[in-house]
Amino acid sequence: MLFGSHVSIRHGYSYAAKAAHVAGCGSFQYFPKNPRSLSIKTFDAHDAMNCADYCKANGLLSIAHTPYPTNFAVDEGTEMADKIMGSLLNDLEIAEACGSIGVVVHFGVYKGKDPLKGYVNIIAFLNRVLRSWNGNTLVLIENQAGQGTKIGITLEELVQIRKLADYPEKIGFCFDTCHAFASGLWTGENWDELVARGEEIDYFSHLKAVHLNDSMFASGSFRDRHADVGQGYIGERRIKKLLQTPLMKRLPLILETPGNILSHSEQIAYLKRLCKES
Ligand SMILES: [Zn+2]
Repeated sequence: MLFGSHVSIRHGYSYAAKAAHVAGCGSFQYFPKNPRSLSIKTFDAHDAMNCADYCKANGLLSIAHTPYPTNFAVDEGTEMADKIMGSLLNDLEIAEACGSIGVVVHFGVYKGKDPLKGYVNIIAFLNRVLRSWNGNTLVLIENQAGQGTKIGITLEELVQIRKLADYPEKIGFCFDTCHAFASGLWTGENWDELVARGEEIDYFSHLKAVHLNDSMFASGSFRDRHADVGQGYIGERRIKKLLQTPLMKRLPLILETPGNILSHSEQIAYLKRLCKES
């Protein structure tokens, strides 16, 4: 299975890929640029190309994660929307050069009175940005925990946004296990139903990556706090059930966990052990 973790690009993209491979990862995630800013990064194209080549040669899959201020739900025609659009195209270019499957973005936060306007904004934003994007790297929309905003927590919303957008073929999904659990989408006991529903509505055919995180809070808490795998409310039994799901075999399974109790490599070793137990 393609376990991996979020890695630093402090020493460059190709270094990050090598570090992930040496650590025994089959995949990894990185921030293409400063995660706290939407500023455009002039990147080292040669280093990015080396990263892509290295990943290809070693069967390593990668995904990028947009900076935190990225939000597709902001109102159209605003300075902020333009800034986010420029930043996202920059992320896509970097990720494409690094040979990454996609760029992960959180569903979005809408602060206005009418939540439907938030959805309209997301679709309009996707249409605008993807009109001028012709690379292979996808935009991967991630489900949210429901902390602060209750949108983007169901599979139906994600599927519907993709379907209503002008370029659905440029959009995929990233499933965050902590967010799914915290939002109550995954109650802890409905995994089989969740998978069946996702297959029925065409969610899993577009799922390209998983954020494999445990949760520090109970299902339905709407609190987004990641825990080391097996150490939170999701726990070993449910993680094991998830890993046994056949569709998980081909996907990058990325840890975004704090590493408080176990380091990322210890967590990956633990996950590999869980896979071996039947
Ligand atoms: Zn995540």
